[in-house]
Amino acid sequence: MPEVTRAYYEDSYQKRLSATVTAVDDEWIELDATIFYPLGGGQPGDIGVMTGPDGNEHKVIDTRKSDAPNQIRHQLDTDDHGLKPGDSVDIEIDWQRRLKHMRMHTSMHLLGSLIPVPVTGGSVGAEKSRLDFDLGEHQIDKLDLTARMQQLVDASHPVVFGTITEAELDERPELVRTMSVQPPRGAGDIRTVRIEGVDFQPCGGTHVNNTSEIGAVRISKIENKGKRNRRVHLVLE
Ligand SMILES: [Zn+2]
Repeated sequence: MPEVTRAYYEDSYQKRLSATVTAVDDEWIELDATIFYPLGGGQPGDIGVMTGPDGNEHKVIDTRKSDAPNQIRHQLDTDDHGLKPGDSVDIEIDWQRRLKHMRMHTSMHLLGSLIPVPVTGGSVGAEKSRLDFDLGEHQIDKLDLTARMQQLVDASHPVVFGTITEAELDERPELVRTMSVQPPRGAGDIRTVRIEGVDFQPCGGTHVNNTSEIGAVRISKIENKGKRNRRVHLVLE
């Protein structure tokens, strides 16, 4: 089956799309193209609505990567939806929730750029997010981080998307060293997110187009997670 078109890679702001059903497995629906982001990279799967050719609306309660490579499956709230391969559907994401994920995800990249140590984990949420650092001897402070984060946000840095091949990465080990998250290998070209003048990472997530869209940020808590590890919590005001 041809690879699903990830319309959210081209335009994270697209809220609606018409697509064709390619596979149905109980309440899970695969499409030829989607704007729904599948759970991954610390960012939750999108939710929203799928409208069938009969005009019936179905809630999409989660989005995941399929077991089949390069496919995405949308979970409806029922398996009694009547959809079958070949059907045309209209899909719409829960935009308010997604926009929060975009503002949060870009914030996480800014935060990573301020703490130059390896990132060991993280999670993006609509209300709060966190990033785990292997801090070593590095010192961090809540108020200082909040102030420096807000400076980066207010400086209106553009966010630019691209792709890089594994061969290019191999030729430029200095690029990999500056990445706080290591790029996945063996799955072809790697999508990249550049916050101009600030940060460059491999990332398949959805982001705002400019840091100014993030608004007011606050580091709400820094938690001890063992001798070297710190969990930094961030909220949007
Ligand atoms: Zn990311």
